[in-house]
Amino acid sequence: MPELPEVETIANGLNKRVAGDRIDSVWVGSKPEPLKSSAAEISAVLEGADIKMVRRVGKHIVFDLGSNKNSDSQWIVHLGMTGKMLVAAPETETLKHTHLVAKLASGRELRFVDPRRFGRLEVRQAGFSGPGAEPLSIDVAEFSRLFHASKAPVKAALLNQKLLHGVGNIYADEALFRAHIRPRRRANTLTKSELRKLHAALQKVLHAAIAAGGSSISDYVDADGEEGFFQIQHRAYGREGKPCLTCKTPIKKIVVGGRGTHYCPKCQK
Ligand SMILES: [Zn+2]
Repeated sequence: MPELPEVETIANGLNKRVAGDRIDSVWVGSKPEPLKSSAAEISAVLEGADIKMVRRVGKHIVFDLGSNKNSDSQWIVHLGMTGKMLVAAPETETLKHTHLVAKLASGRELRFVDPRRFGRLEVRQAGFSGPGAEPLSIDVAEFSRLFHASKAPVKAALLNQKLLHGVGNIYADEALFRAHIRPRRRANTLTKSELRKLHAALQKVLHAAIAAGGSSISDYVDADGEEGFFQIQHRAYGREGKPCLTCKTPIKKIVVGGRGTHYCPKCQK
């Protein structure tokens, strides 16, 4: 499942390729699951729309659209587990599990492909911002206020999309490791200094992952079926039983809020 850094990279890659282009016509497939808005609504909003900008909001890709008939509408794409947005030349073979094809004025096509159909396509009037705060731009005061008000384990608070949107399991574990905080600590018991460290660590791991992904995006959006995923080096996530990179204590795996959670019992307090 693509996490925030992957979605950010994909959205930036799409923005570079298709911002300024126009959607001439749209084909929507007959499978109902990917269609959060109806096929008719999607076609009505997309056809004839100018793509002003493509950006990430939480784990969604948002196309900001403008046109004569619909000013300031948005096309919102959630990739789910296996969804991909491809920018393809029209002669490129259409893959199985293609649920939408948007023909662009430039001659290229935007294609949404999703074998497992957990992805979602939606159109709406502008203003989509998701339920929570944006983890890359929230300031430390607001971050501290949100977490100070939560009695949940801090790991669960990081994953709570109503607090922050887009933080997933990997980056939550990695941020807690770097901030030396145990995942089961109640969020409201963190000191000011710990909240500052966690805020900084979270933004740092997300930025590092985005930077690491910059070179793989062309594979991701262009190639047929080729995965362009990338990773920062994990220090906690997925390292159960392996020595902590700081102190050599074996990394522990527990379950917090239903999610596998990895931490160093010595470094994280
Ligand atoms: Zn350690």
